[in-house]
Amino acid sequence: MSQFLLVFAEMREGKLRQVALETLGAAQLLAQEGDFIRIVLAAGSNTADAAAVLSAYGAEIIYTIEDEDLEHYTPDAYAAAIQAAVSEAQPTVVLFGHTALGRDLAPVIASSMGAGQISDVTSIEIKDGEGLFTRPLYAGKAFEKRSFTTRPAVITIRPNNIAAAAPDASRNPSAITELAYPTPSLRSVVKNVVRKTTGSIDLSEANIVISGGRGVKSADGFKPLEELAGLLGGAVGASRGACDAGYCDYALQIGQTGKVVTPEIYIACGISGAIQHLAGMSQSRIIIAINKDPEAPIFKVADYGIVGDLFDILPLLTMEFRKV
Ligand code: FAD
Repeated sequence: MSQFLLVFAEMREGKLRQVALETLGAAQLLAQEGDFIRIVLAAGSNTADAAAVLSAYGAEIIYTIEDEDLEHYTPDAYAAAIQAAVSEAQPTVVLFGHTALGRDLAPVIASSMGAGQISDVTSIEIKDGEGLFTRPLYAGKAFEKRSFTTRPAVITIRPNNIAAAAPDASRNPSAITELAYPTPSLRSVVKNVVRKTTGSIDLSEANIVISGGRGVKSADGFKPLEELAGLLGGAVGASRGACDAGYCDYALQIGQTGKVVTPEIYIACGISGAIQHLAGMSQSRIIIAINKDPEAPIFKVADYGIVGDLFDILPLLTMEFRKV
C-alpha cells in the first residue's frame, strides 16, 4: 500500500526558496525506500505559481493553502496550515528545510504527530531499504549517521547539501488541491519587517559567497568584495570579527553564532579561520582563502590559498572575471 511523504515547500514573499526544491530532492531520495507518493505543501501567497514549479519538479500531489495570516511567518499560522496537510495526507514522513522557519516548525509538527525527528541532515542513503541520515555534530567537527526506529518521522534538510529535484518534462502534471486554512487563534502577529541585508541574493542560498573579516579594515573595505560578488552573482558574508568591529551588519555573520552557508565557492578575505567561523562555512564545496599571513589557520581548510593583500588581489580577480 502506498505511503505518503509530505514536503513543506518553504516560500518567501510569494516565491519558492531554493531549499524547497532541495527538500523535494530529499523526498525523491527517500521515495526509494518503498512505495511512496510525494505530496508538497505550498503555503503563503502566490501559491499557484509555486504549484506550477513544484509540478514541473516532480511533486505528485500538491496542496496549496493561502491566507493573509500566512503572508509573514508566524508559528501558530504555519503550524495550523501544516497540521491541516498532515490530517489530509496522514504522511509517514514530513520534510522541512533546516532554515530558521523549518527549525521552528519541525519540532511542533513532530510533537503533534508523536513523531521522531532527525535534524540538519546533510546526506541521505538508502541501505537495505532503510534511510540512513548523516548530520554534523560539534559545529562540523564530527558526523553521525542515524536512522528511525519508528514512524511517522520528521526530517529537516540543511540547505545547499542535497541535490535539488530536477525538472521532469515527461511526467503528467501534479494533482493540485487547495486546502482550507483552519484559522487558528494567533498568539503573536508580525507588525513590521525591517530588512537588514544588502543585495538581492539570500546569503544562505547563494552559490558563491565572498566573505570579509577584520582584514577588510573598515566598512569601505567591503567595497571590493561587493564588486566581485556583484559580478559573479554571489552574496557578501562576514566573520564575527568584521561584524564586531562595526564594518558590516550582523545579518552577514557566518559561523557558529551566525549563518551556516554551503555554497559552491566560498572566498574568505582577511579572515583568520577561527573554529567558530569554520562552523559556518567549512562544508562549502570549494574554499578559497586570501590572507596576507601564510600561517593563517584558514589555509588548512582552503582548497586554494592566495597569500597576499586582499586589496591587491580582489581588484585583480575582478578585472580578470570581467574579461570572461
Ligand atoms: P582576525 O582573527 O583578527 O583575522 C583577521 C585576518 O585578516 C588575519 O588572519 C590577518 O592576517 C588577515 N588580514 C589582515 N589584513 C589583511 C589584508 N589586507 N589582506 C589579507 N589578509 C589580511 N566568529 C565568526 O566568524 N563567526 C561566528 O559565528 C563566531 N561565533 C563565535 C562564538 C563564540 C562563543 C566565540 C567565543 C567566538 C565566536 N566567533 C565567531 C569569533 C571567532 O573566535 C574569531 O574571533 C573571529 O572569527 C575572528 O574574525 P576574523 O577572522 O575576521 O579576525
